[in-house]
Amino acid sequence: MTAIASASAPFAAAPPAAALLGWYDRNRRSLPWRAAPGEVADPYRVWLSEIMLQQTNVVAVIPYYESFVSRFPTIAALAAAEEQAVLSLWAGLGYYARARNLHACARIVAAAGGFPDSESGLRALPGIGAYTAAAIAAIAFQRPAVPVDGNVARILSRVFAIAVPLAQARRELAAGAAALGADRDAAARPGDFAQGLFDLGAGICTPTSPSCGACPWQAGCAAYRRSRVAEFPAPKPRKQRPLRHGVHFWLADGQGRVLLRRRPPQGLLGGMSELPGTPWRAEPWGEAEALALAPAQANWTPCGGVRHVFTHFELTLQVFAASVKAINPEHGFLLPVTELEDAALPSVMRKCVAVARAAG
Ligand code: SF4
Repeated sequence: MTAIASASAPFAAAPPAAALLGWYDRNRRSLPWRAAPGEVADPYRVWLSEIMLQQTNVVAVIPYYESFVSRFPTIAALAAAEEQAVLSLWAGLGYYARARNLHACARIVAAAGGFPDSESGLRALPGIGAYTAAAIAAIAFQRPAVPVDGNVARILSRVFAIAVPLAQARRELAAGAAALGADRDAAARPGDFAQGLFDLGAGICTPTSPSCGACPWQAGCAAYRRSRVAEFPAPKPRKQRPLRHGVHFWLADGQGRVLLRRRPPQGLLGGMSELPGTPWRAEPWGEAEALALAPAQANWTPCGGVRHVFTHFELTLQVFAASVKAINPEHGFLLPVTELEDAALPSVMRKCVAVARAAG
């Protein structure tokens, strides 16, 4: 959310509010809490719908909204209700703190004789954050505010080609919203402009495959002009996967067999076969401590390393190989090397086998 402020240089080329407003006049969604064209919005209904729409989609909200306004047609009626009555009418909509805040807010507003008409006054009420305050201020009180929820943020990221991922783009989004709101046509109809943005995000500038061909802002959209719509919003930076280390041992006997063991049935690679080895841990293994865990005393030769990426971590493994006359398969089983192809070896172990065999 932002109140209207002057637009900084990179956001100077805002698409024209008139194009969005004209499109909104022709295509606006008919929603039960919306005032019809030319009507004045009822702050109680705007507030009730905005609280319900926090974390819940329009389709799910409509029946709840209708039950609430039918049971509590005014804020005074809602304020006078028992909290339990409010909570039971809310049941199924989830995030029940919203219902408790709704009721607390209704009591404050009813006692004060009405809603405050400024963003700051609205923000001081229970359950009303920055976005909701801006939405109510714009829609119910025609205050110059541009509410930025997830849908509006997506539109801003595209029309201004904001290269920063949304979670880190607070400043850029505020500047973009300010640039849009600074347009005289937006300032003249802030409620319709906000609702036009909501409708554009819901129906045209959708998260995937936006309908740019039907978009009133196509000509002013930086992402569209550069044919880079799919790049915005910028993807979240990938979390760096933690790195783990391990050592595995290729131990062959004089009959062309190799020692394997079975992994525990539960957990990562559960029930699969593997070359015996050390645990996988955050610190690299020293050779001596790793060889202390080898399946036999032998003349171990380092063969090389393997890198493998799992969903939640990356693994580097060192492979050591040795041959002995006979193996006592105390904690595993012996498999002819010729049968390895068909064994239940996960890819990471196949890589280890390949390294060991290449070195042999
Ligand atoms: Fe969104 Fe496409 Fe319109 Fe740009 S042109 S605002 S990407 S729908």
